[in-house]
Amino acid sequence: MRGSCQCRGVAFEVAGDFISMSFCHCTTCKKISGGVGTANGRVRTESVYLLAGEDLVRTYQPDEGSAKTFCLICGSNLFGSGWPDSEFTSVRLSAIETPLEGRPDAHLYLRSLASWETLPDDGAERFEAGRS
Ligand SMILES: [Zn+2]
Ligand SMILES: [Zn+2]
Repeated sequence: MRGSCQCRGVAFEVAGDFISMSFCHCTTCKKISGGVGTANGRVRTESVYLLAGEDLVRTYQPDEGSAKTFCLICGSNLFGSGWPDSEFTSVRLSAIETPLEGRPDAHLYLRSLASWETLPDDGAERFEAGRS
């Protein structure tokens, strides 16, 4: 799979398919996404390869939760879950350009659901925190 940020300064490749896909509604994901949260595909970190923009990616460590990676120029969300040091990485589905099979099957961190947020009735499993 191929992915990039909005300004296309950063490009990357993911080898193989996602292990799973989910939506994260946590407060950090809301802040960094400007919306209800992030949509993620989980992969082993070693299967993520940067093709361009190694000097443009920045990784931010919030007080709570895992580090998030974004493009320094356009601010696009690219990775979560502690890339590049973690065993697994959450790749933002919004960055993926390759057409995807399937869709997220879980909504995570519903304890952080915003008062202005409406959960879709999509049949996906719901979790108060992370996938247990
Ligand atoms: Zn960019
Ligand atoms: Zn989150």
